[in-house]
Amino acid sequence: MTVSENPKVLIHTNPQFGKCPQCKSVSTLHRSRAKSMYEQIVRRITFFKTYRCKECGWRGFRSTLIFTRKSIRHIIIYLIIIIITALIARYLIINFALT
Ligand SMILES: [Zn+2]
Repeated sequence: MTVSENPKVLIHTNPQFGKCPQCKSVSTLHRSRAKSMYEQIVRRITFFKTYRCKECGWRGFRSTLIFTRKSIRHIIIYLIIIIITALIARYLIINFALT
Protein backbone atom coordinates (compact mmCIF):
# COMPACT_ATOMS: atom_id res chain seq x y z
CA MET A 1 0.00 0.00 0.00
CA THR A 2 1.65 3.22 -1.13
CA VAL A 3 -0.55 6.00 0.19
CA SER A 4 2.41 8.37 0.51
CA GLU A 5 3.08 8.58 -3.22
CA ASN A 6 0.55 11.41 -3.49
CA PRO A 7 -1.57 10.31 -6.44
CA LYS A 8 -3.36 12.67 -8.72
CA VAL A 9 -6.84 12.33 -7.29
CA LEU A 10 -8.57 14.69 -9.64
CA ILE A 11 -7.89 15.40 -13.27
CA HIS A 12 -9.05 18.64 -14.77
CA THR A 13 -10.92 18.16 -18.02
CA ASN A 14 -12.51 20.46 -20.48
CA PRO A 15 -15.91 19.11 -21.57
CA GLN A 16 -15.71 21.34 -24.63
CA PHE A 17 -13.37 18.75 -26.13
CA GLY A 18 -15.47 15.85 -24.93
CA LYS A 19 -18.54 14.11 -26.31
CA CYS A 20 -22.07 15.39 -26.20
CA PRO A 21 -24.06 13.03 -23.92
CA GLN A 22 -27.00 13.07 -26.31
CA CYS A 23 -25.75 13.01 -29.92
CA LYS A 24 -22.19 11.80 -29.12
CA SER A 25 -20.65 14.46 -31.34
CA VAL A 26 -17.14 15.48 -30.35
CA SER A 27 -16.19 19.09 -29.60
CA THR A 28 -19.69 20.50 -30.03
CA LEU A 29 -20.22 21.58 -26.43
CA HIS A 30 -20.00 25.22 -25.52
CA ARG A 31 -20.14 26.92 -22.18
CA SER A 32 -23.62 28.15 -21.53
CA ARG A 33 -24.68 30.93 -19.22
CA ALA A 34 -26.51 29.92 -16.07
CA LYS A 35 -30.14 30.77 -16.65
CA SER A 36 -31.66 29.99 -13.31
CA MET A 37 -30.76 30.57 -9.69
CA TYR A 38 -30.35 26.81 -9.29
CA GLU A 39 -27.78 26.66 -12.09
CA GLN A 40 -25.87 29.59 -10.62
CA ILE A 41 -25.70 27.88 -7.24
CA VAL A 42 -24.60 24.54 -8.73
CA ARG A 43 -21.97 26.28 -10.80
CA ARG A 44 -20.61 28.10 -7.79
CA ILE A 45 -20.43 25.27 -5.27
CA THR A 46 -19.62 22.28 -7.51
CA PHE A 47 -17.30 21.46 -10.39
CA PHE A 48 -20.24 21.27 -12.75
CA LYS A 49 -20.74 23.89 -15.40
CA THR A 50 -23.59 24.45 -17.80
CA TYR A 51 -22.91 23.43 -21.39
CA ARG A 52 -24.83 23.49 -24.60
CA CYS A 53 -24.38 21.33 -27.69
CA LYS A 54 -24.41 23.28 -30.93
CA GLU A 55 -25.30 20.14 -32.89
CA CYS A 56 -28.41 18.84 -31.17
CA GLY A 57 -29.20 21.63 -28.72
CA TRP A 58 -28.62 19.51 -25.63
CA ARG A 59 -28.10 21.61 -22.53
CA GLY A 60 -27.00 20.49 -19.12
CA PHE A 61 -24.28 20.09 -16.56
CA ARG A 62 -20.89 18.60 -17.28
CA SER A 63 -18.17 18.12 -14.70
CA THR A 64 -14.85 19.86 -15.28
CA LEU A 65 -13.09 17.47 -12.96
CA ILE A 66 -12.95 13.70 -13.10
CA PHE A 67 -11.79 11.18 -10.54
CA THR A 68 -9.16 8.75 -11.66
CA ARG A 69 -9.82 5.08 -11.07
CA LYS A 70 -6.69 4.90 -8.94
CA SER A 71 -7.83 7.83 -6.85
CA ILE A 72 -11.14 6.16 -6.03
CA ARG A 73 -9.19 3.34 -4.39
CA HIS A 74 -7.22 5.89 -2.37
CA ILE A 75 -10.38 7.71 -1.33
CA ILE A 76 -11.84 4.40 -0.10
CA ILE A 77 -8.64 3.72 1.89
CA TYR A 78 -8.78 7.21 3.43
CA LEU A 79 -12.45 6.77 4.33
CA ILE A 80 -11.71 3.44 6.03
CA ILE A 81 -8.87 5.09 8.00
CA ILE A 82 -11.20 7.95 9.03
CA ILE A 83 -13.93 5.51 10.13
CA ILE A 84 -11.48 3.36 12.13
CA THR A 85 -10.00 6.49 13.76
CA ALA A 86 -13.49 7.71 14.64
CA LEU A 87 -14.41 4.33 16.14
CA ILE A 88 -11.19 4.22 18.20
CA ALA A 89 -11.76 7.81 19.37
CA ARG A 90 -15.33 6.96 20.32
CA TYR A 91 -14.18 3.83 22.17
CA LEU A 92 -11.56 5.82 24.09
CA ILE A 93 -14.02 8.58 24.98
CA ILE A 94 -16.63 6.10 26.23
CA ASN A 95 -14.18 4.01 28.25
CA PHE A 96 -11.81 6.59 29.66
CA ALA A 97 -13.10 10.13 29.40
CA LEU A 98 -16.37 9.54 31.21
CA THR A 99 -15.03 7.78 34.28
ZN1 LIG B 1 -25.30 17.04 -29.02
